[in-house]
Amino acid sequence: MPALEPTPFIWFNGKLVPWNEAQVHVLSHALHYGTSYFEGIRAYRCPTGGSAVFRLKDHMRRFVNSGKILGLPCPWSQADLEKAVIDTLTANKMETAYIRPLAFVGYGSMGVLPPEAPLDVIIAVWSWGAYLGAEGMDKGVRVKTSSFSRIHPNTLMSKAKAGGNYVNSVLAKVEAVKCGYDEALMLDVQGFVSEASGENIFIVRGNTLKTTPLTSVLEGISRDSIIKLARDMGYTVEEQLFTRDELYCADEAFFCGTAAEVTPIREVDNRIIGEGHAGSVTKSIQRAFFQVVDGSSAKYADWLAHYSF
Ligand SMILES: *Cc1c(COP(=O)(O)O)cnc(C)c1O
Repeated sequence: MPALEPTPFIWFNGKLVPWNEAQVHVLSHALHYGTSYFEGIRAYRCPTGGSAVFRLKDHMRRFVNSGKILGLPCPWSQADLEKAVIDTLTANKMETAYIRPLAFVGYGSMGVLPPEAPLDVIIAVWSWGAYLGAEGMDKGVRVKTSSFSRIHPNTLMSKAKAGGNYVNSVLAKVEAVKCGYDEALMLDVQGFVSEASGENIFIVRGNTLKTTPLTSVLEGISRDSIIKLARDMGYTVEEQLFTRDELYCADEAFFCGTAAEVTPIREVDNRIIGEGHAGSVTKSIQRAFFQVVDGSSAKYADWLAHYSF
């Protein structure tokens, strides 16, 4: 994974501060107890001019909801945050970007009980290419079922994009990479397929796509976009639990997420999926997705928040 390239400014509690000055104390609560939540959003340069943030409102709504789920309310309104994202992109002159809003319990008390003080909030932007690699995006990635189960909704709640939840993802991802795979697939505590360390999963059989229902997974905005896109393209989409052997025997499979976009899966647990490369349905969904996010397709225009500088 390439090193993080600094950009000029990070939005920090309402002010744009130089990248290197956006720092916190080592006794910040979130660093010790995982009391934070975040978003991952992408902005794309539009061939018709300017740039657009994909589904900004939906991301910032989920951000505010993460705070609600965790009982750690966001001190900024959704509208303030949407504006702050655009301000951060334009201040940094970013035509394409990965955008990372984060709210966290800051410095001031070390008990488990979070202090009453408002959370700190930052928005950083940087350039991030294909998260699972350019080759993975084109040819498909190799995946291993994790020995770690996806969090049970009564341990940590999967609908919050919480920092603490990501310990589960890190355990799974490190295990998979150390075993020589690109990504981990986690099962839920009942043994059904859940999701990857930071992506939702779809399987394809004939003209039917299937994805995990919203039980143990994060409610992915890419997942939702693909459900709508695929239905509009004439595919049948089912939200249903499925098992790993159903995945093994699928014609095609792919991951989706803001970071991973639409990444084909070519192998799971050393079983070749379909023909062992990106399948035709996956390719058609991937193409449609990339046409929607940069405004090449006029449909779904209400998913784009345009900006220019
Ligand atoms: C962020 C995330 C996803 C993908 O969600 P998008 O809204 O599509 O970016 C999937 N799973 C997990 C665990 C995530 O944190």
